Amino acid sequence: MLAMRAGTVKVVAPDAHPFRAQPLFPGSLKHATLRAFIHDAAGTCFHQSGTARMGRDADAVVAGALRVHGLAGLRAADASVMPTLARCNTMAPTVVIAERTAELLRAAHGLAGG
Ligand SMILES: Cc1cc2nc3c(=O)[nH]c(=O)nc-3n(C[C@H](O)[C@H](O)[C@H](O)COP(=O)(O)OP(=O)(O)OC[C@H]3O[C@@H](n4cnc5c(N)ncnc54)[C@H](O)[C@@H]3O)c2cc1C
Repeated sequence: MLAMRAGTVKVVAPDAHPFRAQPLFPGSLKHATLRAFIHDAAGTCFHQSGTARMGRDADAVVAGALRVHGLAGLRAADASVMPTLARCNTMAPTVVIAERTAELLRAAHGLAGG
């Protein structure tokens, strides 16, 4: 809450007027109201992945060709299948997973390459 209060910057220079937008949060909130605002407005920037990870052990959800263990005909193809947490941004690896999935599906169903 201290950081939220400290982060309230007022741009007062007259020349800044055209660039001034609406405040991101109402700075006049008091303790309980500010706490409620933070509760409602806060989000995470975590890059969730590996929640349905690929592997061979008992906790793994998908196998090598992205087939979900124990369910015929279902594959998972998103950041959830990453076997370990990536140390990089996760969007590009997710696109690679999607493209690899397209290849697997084309091969499995005898479709022409794209
Ligand atoms: C704030 C933020 C910033 C990020 N910035 C970057 C960045 O700068 N560079 C980078 O590389 N990565 C970034 N990422 C990570 C990147 O966005 C993700 O790694 C990537 O989008 C993961 O793709 P995904 O397909 O696994 O999941 P998502 O992109 O989340 O796609 C999941 C989709 O499934 C849909 N869905 C969910 N549940 C259901 C359901 N039950 N039925 C039907 N549809 C459903 C959702 O609506 C969504 O469209 C950022 C992530 C966040 C949260």
